[in-house]
Amino acid sequence: MAAGLLAAALASAVPVSAQERELDSVRLRPDVVLIRGGWGGNVLAVTTGEGLVLVDTREPAAHGALRRLLGPALSRVRLVVNTHYHEDHLAGNVLVPPTATVLAHASVPDEARKDTLIGLIDWHRTSAAPAALPTATVAGDTSVTVGGLRIELLHAPRAHTNGDLLVWLPAQNVLHAGDIVELGAYPFLDVWAGGTMDGLLAGTERVLALADDATVIVPGHGPPSSRADVAAYRDMLVAVRGGVHDALAAGRSLEETVALHLTAPYDGRFGAAAAGRRFVALVYLSLGGVP
Ligand SMILES: [Zn+2]
Repeated sequence: MAAGLLAAALASAVPVSAQERELDSVRLRPDVVLIRGGWGGNVLAVTTGEGLVLVDTREPAAHGALRRLLGPALSRVRLVVNTHYHEDHLAGNVLVPPTATVLAHASVPDEARKDTLIGLIDWHRTSAAPAALPTATVAGDTSVTVGGLRIELLHAPRAHTNGDLLVWLPAQNVLHAGDIVELGAYPFLDVWAGGTMDGLLAGTERVLALADDATVIVPGHGPPSSRADVAAYRDMLVAVRGGVHDALAAGRSLEETVALHLTAPYDGRFGAAAAGRRFVALVYLSLGGVP
């Protein structure tokens, strides 16, 4: 019964395959463009003196639109950074020239290669195409420079997954937070790949520590946002974590904890009520609750 309830609560975590995506683009800075559309991850395209840098590369259904939007610039991609291993952030690595460097956290190649069925949420994690795998990895915080553009890659341990990178462009004052920040949809904790609630919170605090009032924070999913938006998101995370922690301490079951509707004050701003129940169930698992 518990597994059935969890499957229902988590159903919206499982991406549905769909027909081709439409994408559009928004210029955030003279040299930074956000490419977005549908449920897949936000892409940044950054122009440098030596070609293009991409942050994340979308799922296969969006590749036609990504090709059309980037046009000839696609052949000038020098560097791709993947914020984590999920398909909607990584599968489009196959689109860039073989001369481009594709960089991700050290855990990403192993996670992306896995083909596993996660029965609890009926999620078939399929393995990435070999040509989509990163060509280079980083283990901790590092910075790279491409054509005069400095990019800080900051590892947020055990957050949304076990291999999340925050991508910080200090000169542009733009930060791609990957799926550590999801605005308009409650976050997903991939507890099957090392994701934890406390790591997600720590990663969100790190975003807030880097940002100032002029920073554009690009969430993994959702609109480009301000530091104040992410501070409100952090407050929601703290409140939900506290509620689930108290429920566990009181010996409540998963069903009882989900039924508390702990996200009620936040539904609408941070996601639909059903997604809130899914999030609470994931936090329950992450804090050691047994389904
Ligand atoms: Zn993700």
